[in-house]
Order: sequence, then C-alpha cells, then structure tokens
Amino acid sequence: MNFTEEQISTIVRQVVENIGLQPEVNQTVAPIRHENEWGVFETVDDAIDAADKAFQEYQKFGLQDRKAFTDAIRKMCMERQEELSRMVFEETQMGRYEDKLLKHQFAASETPGIENLETTAWSGKNGLALEEWAPYGIIGAITPSTHPSETMINNSIMMLAAGNVVIFCPHPSAKNVSNYTVKRINEVLVDAGAPENLIVCVQDPTLDTAKQVLNHEKIRLLSITGGPAVVRAAMKTNKKVIAAGPGNPPVVIDESADLDHAAERITLSAGFDNNILCTAEKEIFVVESVFSAFMQAMQKPGNVLLNQSQVEQLAQKAFEKKKYLHILSRDLVGRNASVLAKAIGLNISDEVCLLYGETQNDHVFVQEEQMMPFIPVVKVKDFEQGVQLALEAEHGYGHTASVFTNNMTRATDFAKRANCSIFVINGGTFQGNGGEQGEGTLAFTIATPTGEGITRPTDFARIRRIMNVGSFRFV
Ligand code: NAD
Repeated sequence: MNFTEEQISTIVRQVVENIGLQPEVNQTVAPIRHENEWGVFETVDDAIDAADKAFQEYQKFGLQDRKAFTDAIRKMCMERQEELSRMVFEETQMGRYEDKLLKHQFAASETPGIENLETTAWSGKNGLALEEWAPYGIIGAITPSTHPSETMINNSIMMLAAGNVVIFCPHPSAKNVSNYTVKRINEVLVDAGAPENLIVCVQDPTLDTAKQVLNHEKIRLLSITGGPAVVRAAMKTNKKVIAAGPGNPPVVIDESADLDHAAERITLSAGFDNNILCTAEKEIFVVESVFSAFMQAMQKPGNVLLNQSQVEQLAQKAFEKKKYLHILSRDLVGRNASVLAKAIGLNISDEVCLLYGETQNDHVFVQEEQMMPFIPVVKVKDFEQGVQLALEAEHGYGHTASVFTNNMTRATDFAKRANCSIFVINGGTFQGNGGEQGEGTLAFTIATPTGEGITRPTDFARIRRIMNVGSFRFV
C-alpha cells in the first residue's frame, strides 16, 4: 500500500480511537545521541563476554531500578513506534504498517514487569520462610522474522524485570531493525543509569551464530520464538528451554453461532498484520446447515471469496512441494490480500483484509501454517466432526484454537480436548493474548511445547527460598 504520511496518521488515529488506546504518536522522538555500537558485537563470544560483565553489574541494582529501566524501554517503544514499524515493514516486507504500530503499542503497554515477581512469605511450625524470584543470568533469545522488534521489546522488558541480561539472535532477514532496536534499548537504559550491554546481539546474525548461542556454556536459559526447526535445535541442547513454537489455529463454528459476529471477529484477527501471528486463525470448520450463510457473512467485512480453481492456483503459488514437505513461498507470506490475488490474476483493492474459499479437509492450506491472508473454510456434517478435524489440523501443537457457539457445553468440551495454551470462545484469537481487547498480560513469546503459555517475567526466573529457623513465628 502506498500511503502518504498524512493518510497514515489519519488511519492510525482512527484505529487507535477505535480500540481506546492513547498512544503518543505525535510526540517528538528524542534524537539519537549515542552513535556508538552499544550492544551490537562482531562475534558471539564478544557479545556474551560483554553481557556477562553487564550481569555482574546488574545484580547490584534493586527492583525499583529494574522498574525504571523497563519503563525506559516502554517509553522508547512508544516514542519510536512509527520509526520501528516502518523499519520492520520495509525490511521484512510482511504485514501492514498500521498493525505494526499497534503491536509496538501493545509491547510497550501490556508487557508485564516487576509487579509479576511477587514474593511469597509464611510463618509455620519452624519459623519463617520466604520465596523470591532470582535471575538465571544470560538468556539466549531467538526471535522471529514476523515480529522482530516487537518480540525483542516484549522479551527485554520481561527478562530484565526478572534480573537477567539477554543475547538476542534475530532472524537474518530482520537484522537491521533488530540491531537498531538493541542500540536504542541500550541507549535509553544507559541514560536511565543502567550498566552498558544488558541487551546484546551480533551484527550479522546467521544460523551459525544462532547455533553458537544455543550451545554456549555461559547461557543457562534459552527462549525460542520461531518455527519447528529452531525449536528442535534448542531441545537438543542440554539447557532449560522456553519454546514458543509454531501453531495452526483452527476455528469451529456451529449452527447456534452468531455468524455475522464470527465473520467480523475472524476478519479482524486473521487479517491482522496479514495473518503472520502464530495465534491467528488459519482454517475454519463450519457445520453444513450454516455453511452457506457463513460464507455470505464473510463477504460483509469486504473479504473476497475465491472459487475452487482460484484456490488451487493460489496453493500452487504459495507452496512448493519437496517430497513430503510443503515449503512456503516467502514471496507471499505476510503480503496483502491484493498481492495474493494478483498472483492468480485478480485485481482487488489493497484494503481487502482476507481472501477465503471452500476446501476439503486434507488441503495444504488447512494442514500447513500458511501465514498469509487466505483462509480455507471446510464444511463439516456436525460439531463433533468439526472438532475432530480441528484437532487434526492443530497437529497437537497445543497452541491456539477457537469456537463460535452459543452452546457452552460444546465449547467447554472442545476447550478440554484442544488442550491449547490459548482457547477463545466467541472472539478473535488475538483476544486470547491479553491487551486492550482481551484480558491479562500479553506476550510475543507463547510457549506451547514447554507449557509456559503466554510468558511472563516469572517464567524467566528461578524460585529461591530462605528459611529463618526458630524465629519470627511470634504468636
Ligand atoms: P523461523 O523458524 O524461520 O525463524 C525463527 C528464528 O529461528 C530466526 O531467528 C531464525 O534465524 C532461527 N532459526 C531457524 N532455524 C534455526 C536452526 N536450525 N538453528 C538455529 N536457529 C534457527 O520462523 P519465522 O518465519 O521467523 O517465524 C514464524 C514461525 O515462528 C511460525 O512457525 C510461527 O508460528 C512461529 N512463531 C511462534 C510464536 C509463539 O509465540 N509461539 C511467535 C512468533 C512466531
């Protein structure tokens, strides 16, 4: 989309007014005052040595200092949201600029901080016990191409709040914005009185530098946000891993659902940032008695229905088959619906959120995580068949699933069987990840295989107990 500056400001203001946030989008951004390479190193060893030194210093600071430091990151993110969003968009060519503004706002305002690190204390038969949250040290954090600066900011706030320091391994295709984010974080941290190099990375991230970090002896904890290959690689190390792996979120819609509401919510959520969120709806199962009505309802928010031959043409452009694997075409991942349409010879407006079309259950668009704004819709004979096929399409990731129904017995049954980190009833799946439209805190690292779910600072901390024997039981 080619927007003028003025159009972008108008859209942002409208979106923000709609969701009730008050970003400081027009606030003056502080000029860059430190032109040095803080936090960005040539080699993994240099970066980790600097982080190690920084950790020794960081341990001398208290919780209120950590709060001041993480507040400085939040403020920087709010102030630089336009700049960072534009850089992510231009470098990765995925998603939509205006949605990236929201992602940066959410990272700044909805990420949990030190308030999550509650101390537990009790006096019992033998005296007083206290449990507090301690840091691990240097965390190795792998970040995805789909939300590079957003994940770094979200991770940095949580990991620093828990007292750790971090070496980030960004995706090579997002290295410029990632390096820039590391420098800007260090800049505001040092201005707030923190030691240098609490957050580090290497200048030219590659698969090899990521592997060095995964296996480095000074790294005690790995935080992995990415697809199946990197999760597998991290699990092979002998370290504690918080793994936020892939998803393929299914939606089931039954005959009792409000179909217009379902279509509107799915459009907002699956269309957000062109479907590159791991939590975004990737396939829909609709019971046959309301199938046609739902397909019509999906047109109301302006989505474009593809016929069977158009769906097949798009699948051929979107996936390359290599033996048993379907490899996604990076030319279409995260692109606008109009770009997908153009690939199959259709001209549609840039404003269209989603393409959709009927497919069979075994279709590649149903079984693979497509991360683009086409959503397949499968007709099922009843709710039970919808649930069974949804569970198969989710492939046991335990990530995210949703249902639209007025029958809470059915919703509860599906929720139990889906066993996902996020399950949403009658809403868009992004409403399951906190923020203005959901409940609770928000994370860009949703750890499904290792079970932490929507991560928070305590996930990046160790519990330590101190016992005062024989004292302070005073009644
Ligand atoms: P990706 O797997 O291609 O890359 C993710 C990161 O892993 C990158 O930094 C990459 O350089 C690194 N990497 C990849 N293979 C590696 C290997 N063998 N060894 C070491 N490092 C390796 O993923 P992407 O395209 O950047 O992001 C999209 C994927 O991430 C999707 O599958 C999505 O579902 C998942 N994701 C999950 C979450 C979550 O919270 N669960 C959040 C965002 C993205």
